[in-house]
Amino acid sequence: MVSKTIFQKIIEKEIPSEFIYEDDLCIVINDINPQAPLHLLIIPKKPLPKLSDAEEKDLNLLGHLMLIAGNMSRKFNVEDAFNIVINNGEKAGQTVFHLHIHFLAGNKKLNLPK
Ligand code: 5GP
Repeated sequence: MVSKTIFQKIIEKEIPSEFIYEDDLCIVINDINPQAPLHLLIIPKKPLPKLSDAEEKDLNLLGHLMLIAGNMSRKFNVEDAFNIVINNGEKAGQTVFHLHIHFLAGNKKLNLPK
């Protein structure tokens, strides 16, 4: 059996974490090691390991995550300036293999790899 990721344990409340937002499809939490003044993680409840594992049937879920990103931008009054990042695969820096969107705001410019 594949062991649960840290995000699955957070979703199932095995590990306590403050939920900034929750609905049937996803949760939003603060990143434990923020890379910007506001660094949220938007995490689907469905345990897709990475974006490249998503299929046609996940269309609604992926769209939903984007809408939640927009909602978060308004909630935190950063709708004019935020970045979203998805690391896909170990070589791209992914460390938790449960799809998640990094939502970053508060930096003038992110120093993303070229
Ligand atoms: P990745 O490198 O996979 O794109 O991002 C994983 C993110 O999860 C990292 O930014 C890391 O700081 C965050 N993270 C890892 N473990 C935990 C945790 O237990 N709680 C929270 N809130 N974030 C975590």
